[in-house]
Amino acid sequence: MPKTVADENGRTSRYLLQQRSVRRYSTAGTNPKLMKISKVWIDDGCISCSLCQDLAPDVFLVEDGEDCVVRPDAQAHFTNLEEDIHLAAADCPVDVIRVEHEEAAVS
Ligand code: SF4
Repeated sequence: MPKTVADENGRTSRYLLQQRSVRRYSTAGTNPKLMKISKVWIDDGCISCSLCQDLAPDVFLVEDGEDCVVRPDAQAHFTNLEEDIHLAAADCPVDVIRVEHEEAAVS
């Protein structure tokens, strides 16, 4: 059973998920310079709250009591789930999700 945690503002993962649709609307199309995701990884310090898995289960895996891992086949979903991955990284209560983007094309 995943732990229920709250961030420093008392927001639980359930609360953050409820805010997701609001922020999806409010952030849609506001960052045209956002580049494609090339790599996602988890730094040390995960507290196994499962928020990221709730947001993007095809990318993040949190098994019982274990630290989150990025699924081996996650890269196939980076484009489709780009927004969810960024939300997970932004909402991770201990800020351990790292996202790397492709280099900007020079034209
Ligand atoms: S990486 Fe962050 S959001 Fe994902 S389970 Fe760990 S602490 Fe929670």
